[in-house]
Amino acid sequence: PAMLGILGGGQLGRMFASAAKNMGYGVTVLDPDSHAPAAEFADVHLCKSFTDPEALQYMATHCAAITTEFENVNADSMRWLAAQDIPVAPSGDCVEIAQDRIAEKNFIRDAGLDVAPFLAVKNAASLEGDLSAYLPGILKTARLGYDGKGQVRVKTAEDVRFAHAEMKHQPCVLEKMMPLVSEISAIVTRTRAGEVACFPVAENEHLNGILDVSIVPARISTALADRARQMAMQLAEKLDYVGVMAVEFFVLEGDELVINEMAPRPHNSGHYTLNATLTTQFEQQVRAMCGLYPGKTDLLSPTVMVNLLGDSWGDDGSEPHWEILMTAPNTKLHLYGKKLARPGRKMGHFNVLATSADAALEQARAIKETL
Ligand code: ATP
Ligand code: MG
Ligand code: MG
Repeated sequence: PAMLGILGGGQLGRMFASAAKNMGYGVTVLDPDSHAPAAEFADVHLCKSFTDPEALQYMATHCAAITTEFENVNADSMRWLAAQDIPVAPSGDCVEIAQDRIAEKNFIRDAGLDVAPFLAVKNAASLEGDLSAYLPGILKTARLGYDGKGQVRVKTAEDVRFAHAEMKHQPCVLEKMMPLVSEISAIVTRTRAGEVACFPVAENEHLNGILDVSIVPARISTALADRARQMAMQLAEKLDYVGVMAVEFFVLEGDELVINEMAPRPHNSGHYTLNATLTTQFEQQVRAMCGLYPGKTDLLSPTVMVNLLGDSWGDDGSEPHWEILMTAPNTKLHLYGKKLARPGRKMGHFNVLATSADAALEQARAIKETL
């Protein structure tokens, strides 16, 4: 069978590899850890780093198409692989934009889509003028932030300058704090031929900066959900994006919608597709990178996805109490095979399928309490 390559063997790599195997492909994962979560479903080629020339050469020689599971993959590595005449999705150019909040927000705005008011903070001098249009706000590092890390909430210009100094004056964006009604995401798939499909919109709730639950369908009007999907597809088209991409939005008063950020890969808020749509977001990634038509994305049942963090495991590493979860006939547990359960570490998730999003949410919350 054709061999598909993926840079990174975490849980996203694992679910990708599982989907690809089911579709008859072989999978090679590039990872520094031979026991990475994806290793159970794929051959692992060990590397010291994702820029290691030997490792990239190996992937180029052995794989028919290549993707990545994490957004901070080196863009030049993706470009180098593409230059070896291998289909690479997403492109180095797209991941480069998504990796830098300044480039990302500029790109989204230039594509004619709304973002929250922001100031590109390239250095200390960027903060010399009047900042009141962005306050109260959030100062976010331009690169490498995730799960709310690298962000400081600021009220005054003095706060901003102090926080920026604390961040060693690295490039940042200063973003106005928006009054959020809710947060939603749309996951879009685009092929090289320009075929586009978008999954139903998820409504996302965070706990301590980490995604806690995704509720699908999002509890917003159909018109608003359609608008979010249109915006996500428009962004993918402007990027000439190939592969699966997540777009996070803020819903504001009066059904106003602004884009928060994008992720150039399958996304935690799309894990409901493992059980609630005909095609999963990981199968879509396989399809897009292999030039197959995107699969159907219709929601088969209202679903709530709950993240399982290491916090639910015992201090001695003992597993949560699965009994209630496992006896409910309408739930699906997914574990990532990680041995070490640190607080905040994503260990797995479960999906609850019910007749309504509200019923699924109520049951999901009740089950989480029993773990
Ligand atoms: P992720 O783990 O999703 O990649 P991240 O670290 O890149 O997250 P953001 O998505 O930028 O961070 O922000 C994290 C959360 O902080 C958002 O989901 C939202 O709840 C809140 N937040 C961020 N920016 C704003 C804003 N401008 N106004 C109000 N809330 C915000
Ligand atoms: Mg992010
Ligand atoms: Mg985010």
